[in-house]
Amino acid sequence: MRKLFVFSLIIALLTGLAFGKLIIGVIGKSVHPYWSQVEQGVKTAGKALGVETRFFVPPKEDINAQLQMLESFIAQGFSGIAIAPSDPSAVIPTIKKALEMGIPVITLDTDSPKSGRYVYIGTDNYSAGYMAGTIMKKLLNGKGKVVIGTGSLTAMNSLQRIQGFKDAIKGTNIKILDILNDEEDGARALSLAESALNAHPDLDAFFGVYAYDGPAQALAVKNAGKVGKIKIVCFDTTPDILQYVKKGIINATLGQRPYMMGYLSVTVLYLMNKIGVTNTLMMLPKVGNDYVIDTGVDVVTPDNLDEYLKMMEKLGIPIKF
Ligand code: BGC
Repeated sequence: MRKLFVFSLIIALLTGLAFGKLIIGVIGKSVHPYWSQVEQGVKTAGKALGVETRFFVPPKEDINAQLQMLESFIAQGFSGIAIAPSDPSAVIPTIKKALEMGIPVITLDTDSPKSGRYVYIGTDNYSAGYMAGTIMKKLLNGKGKVVIGTGSLTAMNSLQRIQGFKDAIKGTNIKILDILNDEEDGARALSLAESALNAHPDLDAFFGVYAYDGPAQALAVKNAGKVGKIKIVCFDTTPDILQYVKKGIINATLGQRPYMMGYLSVTVLYLMNKIGVTNTLMMLPKVGNDYVIDTGVDVVTPDNLDEYLKMMEKLGIPIKF
């Protein structure tokens, strides 16, 4: 009887190991509906592939909280990790450690190319920033004063968007008066937008770099009674943002595809476990010598909002507001 018990235990342990569920961890940047869309993609892919998933975001921009969670995922021996580092340099040693231990690591939403991560999955942020600048140029007829609001002055996606925007308005009479950092804190984003309006009564436009910024700027403009006088170009298509697009307070927003970032991150890490890192990378698109999955953007304006909402519904990721 006892022998049978020990035998069954060994079999149970062995099959458990052989068929043990993969655990994939995803670390985002802040509590925001944008990251809820990423999480939705993570969960859906996890279910479809039979993979366990863990999703973590700190309340606001917090590289130390991200590093702690990364360490914890490594210590628990996760099968793969995707991270959106708020600071691309600070994360390098810990990513390297995970890779040395055989845990595949990729980045999503914002990159850390020098960390050795295998793939970046997300927006081409420089091009998207350039697109935002081109739209602004048209809205302002090449002349005016702009304040930029962002949630990070370290994360690559923020810096690349700002650089793209600056390059697009080069040679025009558009001047950037200030770049304000709200550290992905909604209340701070609002008070910064309000102070910018007070400090610059002749302001012509806002550029909102992160999902927090457009709605904060829109609310500040509305409260100041300056709707129509101040143009807003921003990023993302969370319900709060689309509400302001519908009202025409936000003139254009660059809709990233956060659901796809989450879904594809889990899928790629799953494949790396199932068929190996090299075989997985062989299937992925390359930019130079690097592996990058560009998830693309949709430019959403009051004119094409209905079309956009219909498309999202068709894709099975409706946005309700
Ligand atoms: C950015 C994320 C950021 C989010 C919320 C998005 O535009 O891609 O990195 O965390 O906004 O601020």
